[in-house]
Amino acid sequence: MTTIDHAVVLGGSIAGLLSAAALAPRAHRITVVDRDPLPLEGPDAQVARRGVPQGDQIHHLLMRGQERIEELLPGIGDELLALGCEKYDDVADFSQFVDGAWRMRIQSDLKVTMFRRPLFEWAIRRRVLALSNVTVVKGMAVGLLASSDGARVSGAKVRGAPGGTLAADLVVDATGRGSRSPFWIEDLGYERPVERHVRIYMGYSTWTVRLPEGALPKGLAGISASASPANPFGVAIRPCGNGLHDVAAYGMAGHYPPDDLDAMAGFFEELDSPVIADVMKKAVPASEIVPYRMPGNQRRMWEDLPRRPENLVVVGDAVTSFNPIYGQGMTMAALGAGVLGDALAEAGTLDGLAETVQARLGPLAQVAWDLAVGADSVYPQAEYENVEPPSARDRDRARAQSAAQSAEGAVRVAMRATALYMDPAYLGSPVVQETIDRWLTSGHKPAPEVTDPTDPPDVTPGVVRAADLLEPATAAGRLAG
Ligand SMILES: Cc1cc2nc3c(=O)[nH]c(=O)nc-3n(C[C@H](O)[C@H](O)[C@H](O)COP(=O)(O)OP(=O)(O)OC[C@H]3O[C@@H](n4cnc5c(N)ncnc54)[C@H](O)[C@@H]3O)c2cc1C
Repeated sequence: MTTIDHAVVLGGSIAGLLSAAALAPRAHRITVVDRDPLPLEGPDAQVARRGVPQGDQIHHLLMRGQERIEELLPGIGDELLALGCEKYDDVADFSQFVDGAWRMRIQSDLKVTMFRRPLFEWAIRRRVLALSNVTVVKGMAVGLLASSDGARVSGAKVRGAPGGTLAADLVVDATGRGSRSPFWIEDLGYERPVERHVRIYMGYSTWTVRLPEGALPKGLAGISASASPANPFGVAIRPCGNGLHDVAAYGMAGHYPPDDLDAMAGFFEELDSPVIADVMKKAVPASEIVPYRMPGNQRRMWEDLPRRPENLVVVGDAVTSFNPIYGQGMTMAALGAGVLGDALAEAGTLDGLAETVQARLGPLAQVAWDLAVGADSVYPQAEYENVEPPSARDRDRARAQSAAQSAEGAVRVAMRATALYMDPAYLGSPVVQETIDRWLTSGHKPAPEVTDPTDPPDVTPGVVRAADLLEPATAAGRLAG
């Protein structure tokens, strides 16, 4: 086990704050650097920041990420509930009309906490900045410091820090999708990581509403009509705490939703399920609509570098940034921080730590990437750079994974994949693959009772338990049934 004197974390959003939490037990001092102020109090503390332009958009945290964050910051789940966030059953309380069928609702112990993203970030910030060895510097990271031979990173150049530099034993880059580390290591004489893109040109328009009691049918807490190649538009209505709901209208493949309320009424009419338009007729807006557009999935292959400088670790969106529809980014940020903390706890020295962290993070990022890219690949308009376009068979399988959620076995596969995944062995495991194959070869058609777009399903008797999904041996039995 090694102890660091000073670690510098570049970026004070989810990945940076969680990395600081993971480092805290093993570093005497941790400095979190962000170009934005990171207030704990006052009117700006719980609102979206400039450096996180996606802050006003709907954010859903997968259960796996929630669990990892709880390990890093014990008690954070209860703190969020005390702040007005709300907990729901991820399988029973939400309905999704996708590719012509409603996802099955079944009771589960997959409980997810719903929040507005700025409040969530603030709750994490409040916990991390309360740690006695964590301080914040407001400044812009513009490069790395390194030993004269470039073999070791020894700090960061930070515009705004005293003297413009921060010396450190370890630098963690959590500056998000626009991270400059590839160029910074190039300046030190290393190759940049290969960059992969799968572009699907998607756009969100998110706003917050108040829904009167009973506005959602059948006791639902949230509902969505998902985009598909036949209709590139979708809407998700999800609770976001304190009795409010976030509404995210979105479009894929270069089709963007409107960004004003008047045009929205027409937009709702175009969705695959008319239930959304019915619900939204009763909604009372509680915020402005905030639009956001992004090209799509971006993956930097940090784990594949043939040579790298010691003492530089890259986490969060700086490694992989996804089409946000699949809600994976914050979970990946949490997993990256966890990998960093675990690797540091196991290491006898900092030598090789960077290599170990990126090597462990790579397969986790790849699972999330495969899911996002697989799902995006069903759109013929998807563009691939440094990525082999998937075969027709892989595209079919991706579609089966999302379309086949109207029966229990498939719901279990989907929940394993989307709520609790990031276990590469599981998703690639024969039982999951066989289940998907069976759905494909049996020419699965959803049961007629789940295809009426006007009628979301009731809760089906039975229970999905996370433990069964997590244990491949147990899950094998259930999935086969
Ligand atoms: C529209 C949209 C919706 C999303 N929805 C979800 C969702 O439902 N679920 C989910 O899990 N994820 C979602 N995400 C992804 C999620 O927002 C990110 O994965 C998450 O914020 C973790 O990112 P990060 O901390 O790595 O980077 P970011 O959140 O992008 O933060 C980067 C930080 O670095 C700072 N910074 C950047 N450059 C510098 C610099 N040079 N010097 C100093 N500071 C710097 C910025 O100010 C910022 O604070 C969504 C993303 C988008 C775009």
